[in-house]
Amino acid sequence: MSTDLFCEIVAGERPAYVVSSDEVAVSFLDTRPVFKGHVLVVPRVHVETLTDLADVGPFFERVQAMARAVEEGLEAAGTFVAMNNRVSQSVAHLHVHVVPRNKKDGLRGFFWPRTKYDSAEEAESYADRIAKAL
Ligand SMILES: [Zn+2]
Repeated sequence: MSTDLFCEIVAGERPAYVVSSDEVAVSFLDTRPVFKGHVLVVPRVHVETLTDLADVGPFFERVQAMARAVEEGLEAAGTFVAMNNRVSQSVAHLHVHVVPRNKKDGLRGFFWPRTKYDSAEEAESYADRIAKAL
């Protein structure tokens, strides 16, 4: 069995700002968000890429719910939902990025400067706001 950063988060062996967790997927804040409230949705089972995922439907239901919650919980105008497979994939455990978007937020193309949370409290408040909208 493979182990990586996200397997450790799924197993509860590594701390993360978890937004939601069930038998299919675990969702938590990206520690270096494109915008604050940037969530990663990962399948509980270890698979590397989309083509390795056997049961796609239940996983993408979680992605869909997260996209709605990020919008509603953070009062964002929209979201960007994306997945890198192998190329530009930072952790070899499938993960979907759900990024809150707003008009004139400055995001253009695929050069994405990352930001940081000012404090643990701030990160927790973003996780809470999204979780409450689920
Ligand atoms: Zn893994």
